[in-house]
Amino acid sequence: MLEMKNLVKTYTMGDEEQVVLKGIDLKINRGDFLSVLGPSGSGKSTLMNIIGCLDVPTSGSYYLSGERIEDLPETALSHIRNREIGFIFQQFQLLPRLSAQKNVELPLIYAGVPEKERQLRSADILKRVGLAEKMKNRPNQLSGGQQQRVAIARALVTEPTILLADEPTGALDQQTGHQIMELFKELYQEGKTIVMITHDGDVAKNGSRIVRIVDGNLSEGVYNA
Ligand code: ADP
Ligand code: MG
Repeated sequence: MLEMKNLVKTYTMGDEEQVVLKGIDLKINRGDFLSVLGPSGSGKSTLMNIIGCLDVPTSGSYYLSGERIEDLPETALSHIRNREIGFIFQQFQLLPRLSAQKNVELPLIYAGVPEKERQLRSADILKRVGLAEKMKNRPNQLSGGQQQRVAIARALVTEPTILLADEPTGALDQQTGHQIMELFKELYQEGKTIVMITHDGDVAKNGSRIVRIVDGNLSEGVYNA
């Protein structure tokens, strides 16, 4: 479903060149819950941006759902992004003036879904993440864990191919983070494909697979052993 071959990402700042990803090979199958583990600055967000089609590799190839991503123009990339990827971020990234339900409806508005169907689907998914009673609350009327649940509902509502989460528990206390990981594990049991980026080895253990980024290369399974 997703495959990277010898993928390289280089950033150029002035005449300084930094090779962040040094030839990554990675295959993700439908239904995987993959944790990508690595210390700060190791290239996790760079890899997430490429997986999510927010950025393109410098060389190598990236296939998502059968399409070769680096060949596509930005219009096609944004289409794939909206259709295939559900993003979840450390800082939730909810719009403060909108209710939980309106936040969840946003990607459906972009997709042109009619209002009645938007309301049904957003209410359904908010129930799924345990927020049936909080749909009318704005983000500042919700706890951190509840805000992340809204963000997860927003990511799920378009039924994306992959849920892509960058440090989803990074802004939460340990107990709340644990509850969010329980929700991820339920989604995995339901067959969702999840890619989760984290610097925390205990958080990574929630995944069905762990890869580590070490010095710009990936190694799989070592940490779990
Ligand atoms: P992580 O998410 O693991 O902390 P990042 O992928 O954010 O790591 O960053 C990896 C390295 O790439 C860092 O040294 C960072 O400074 C550099 N980097 C990240 N994004 C950019 C960018 N847009 N331009 C230049 N350098 C970048
Ligand atoms: Mg990062």
